[in-house]
Amino acid sequence: QAKTRGRGRHELFDVELRERVQRQLRLEQDLRDSVRGGQLWVAYQPVVDLRTYQRVAVEALLRWQHPVHGSISPGEFIPLAEESDLINLIGGYMLRTCTRELSLRRLRGGTRTRLTANLSARQLDDESLVDAVDDALRTTGLPPSELCLEITESALMREPEKAAEILTALRNLGVRLAIDDFGTGYSSLAQLWKLPLDTLKIDRSFVAGLDGPGNPDAEAIIKGIVTMAHSMGLTVIAEGTENERQVAILRGLGCDQAQGFHFGRPAPAEQVFGE
Ligand code: C2E
Ligand code: MG
Ligand code: MG
Ligand code: MG
Repeated sequence: QAKTRGRGRHELFDVELRERVQRQLRLEQDLRDSVRGGQLWVAYQPVVDLRTYQRVAVEALLRWQHPVHGSISPGEFIPLAEESDLINLIGGYMLRTCTRELSLRRLRGGTRTRLTANLSARQLDDESLVDAVDDALRTTGLPPSELCLEITESALMREPEKAAEILTALRNLGVRLAIDDFGTGYSSLAQLWKLPLDTLKIDRSFVAGLDGPGNPDAEAIIKGIVTMAHSMGLTVIAEGTENERQVAILRGLGCDQAQGFHFGRPAPAEQVFGE
């Protein structure tokens, strides 16, 4: 009896696996068409200075409005794009779109905020990335110092030496660099120290930890990160700030800037900057 049950479970697993793989393959094909089909768009989320409460930057976040499945999160389609080599096409679209948007807004006098955009691990593998960034800046006229590129801690740690090289080349263009989701990727201080970074973004899991019984630990960890980052000359941004209480604590711990639903959700450019 145990044997049949075992086999039944096996079959169920196979069916689920097959369905998952099929959905992935279909999505991959759809993703290929999404750029030309106008299904991709960019949302912007404010980053706020914790002393003045002024908006100092916006983070560009990619969105996919699928014709059948509706909105699909970047957490699902970015990994697909990375596996299928679509990441350069999509990454290029993303860079051009957000730099053009910000440049236009600045020209119209509507904003003086900086732009920050995400790079994936696979984009760091490709030498053409530096040219693509340079190109986006030149065509749109956005000053390089107004653009910050975010790389997750885990992407940096995959091949630290190679990453350091590309980061240096990007830095030489005049753009700023941030380490994203810090605290989730086991990087060592010795490795971070060597990278030409400007900003460190504390992962939102630590900020969420400020609510509830884990608070003393979360506070101690954030405090440690802030101290370390400041001693390395980095600006610190807290991610995922959802309530007033977290903001007050983060301010007290010396965080420079914050981002999160409390200050504003990612939204279309017209909502964030006005028409
Ligand atoms: P991320 O760069 O760490 O972006 C922050 C994510 O947290 C965003 O999710 C944002 O919507 C969400 N978030 C912001 N404030 C709050 C909050 O207060 N509470 C909670 N619970 N969440 C908040 P999103 O837009 O789904 O993006 C997820 C991840 O996908 C991003 O994490 C980034 O790593 C990646 N991603 C997004 N756009 C791009 C892109 O254009 N290129 C690449 N390579 N990756 C991207
Ligand atoms: Mg980010
Ligand atoms: Mg992040
Ligand atoms: Mg994150």
